[in-house]
Amino acid sequence: MIITRPVTVLSPSDKILRAARDRGLSAPVHRNEPMAPHTSLRVGGPVDLFVQALTLEHLMGWVTLARDSDMTPLLLGRGSNVLVSDEGVRGVVIENDCGAYELRVHGNNGGQSATLYAESGASLPGLAYRTARQGWAGLEWAVGIPASVGAAVVNNAGAHDGDTGSALRQVTILGERSTVYRVSPEDLDFGYRRSRLKGNRCCEIVLSAEFDLCREDPRQLASQMARYTEHRRRTQPSEPSVGSIFMNPPGDNAGRLIEACGLKGTQIGGAMISPMHANWIINTNGALASDIMGLVDLMREEVHREFSIKLELEIEPIGEWQRR
Ligand SMILES: Cc1cc2nc3c(=O)[nH]c(=O)nc-3n(C[C@H](O)[C@H](O)[C@H](O)COP(=O)(O)OP(=O)(O)OC[C@H]3O[C@@H](n4cnc5c(N)ncnc54)[C@H](O)[C@@H]3O)c2cc1C
Repeated sequence: MIITRPVTVLSPSDKILRAARDRGLSAPVHRNEPMAPHTSLRVGGPVDLFVQALTLEHLMGWVTLARDSDMTPLLLGRGSNVLVSDEGVRGVVIENDCGAYELRVHGNNGGQSATLYAESGASLPGLAYRTARQGWAGLEWAVGIPASVGAAVVNNAGAHDGDTGSALRQVTILGERSTVYRVSPEDLDFGYRRSRLKGNRCCEIVLSAEFDLCREDPRQLASQMARYTEHRRRTQPSEPSVGSIFMNPPGDNAGRLIEACGLKGTQIGGAMISPMHANWIINTNGALASDIMGLVDLMREEVHREFSIKLELEIEPIGEWQRR
């Protein structure tokens, strides 16, 4: 008599979870996790596997595991520059919760300069506040940008005449073949809201960054940061958003162009082009990602029709969009 054993067919998620167990990767993992709570726009459907990497070791382990399993991992910082589709994301999203940092002061007697080392999941505005309070200047421009350090490097996040590329000393990267190497800011080819890492779909991942800081009166830093915060309060909406939708075209301003098309306040479903700032879309009431994308398309089409200017997205659509 031949006894046949039932064959268990493992899903890709089951396979990767089994492999994670074999490699001793114990970071918290959630199946079919909705992405909306993990993005500043509060939209986005479920991801197959959502991993919270609390240490750089786990982050590297999960990235390598996903690549070994032929899945491109998507690394998420604070989710403040992504528009995740309603259909969600197939594969693995790794949330970067590696937030350790260290201030290294140079010289004796308190020193006049310092290097700030930060893991890539650290909050950039959080670091700006903490270092300024201790009398270190260099990151005060970042006070209102809800970025993780890693994504701030990728996007060259900036405001108030400062940006990430100009503040950096060096960056540590996990490369495509899981090699770890350091690069200088010159190697990253920084430009307006871009670096050579942008759009490379996590082939190179920022593990940590080092920033140059210098001594400054903490009271002066505090009042400068208060001015920046007040300026944002007056000019930017407070509802859930993803910041500026489009980059400014050379010599012009995306908000001005969209406003000139009369689009302020236009609504699709629960999404609205902000009456306060035309280059921002706000989630007023349970918006779908498709509502937001509908407004993005409208803004782009109207500006092209009126001014023959092609606006380029600053935000990144993520996930399954083909069914829209
Ligand atoms: C209210 C508001 C105000 C804003 N103001 C500004 C502003 O003044 N200036 C500005 O520049 N931006 C601004 N932004 C946009 C946004 O905060 C920045 O683009 C920021 O850099 C995104 O950081 P994040 O951690 O949220 O990235 P996420 O949205 O999580 O990720 C963005 C991209 O970076 C990739 N990524 C994330 N981490 C890493 C990593 N470690 N290595 C490699 N790739 C990685 C992701 O895969 C994704 O492709 C604003 C957004 C909001 C919501």
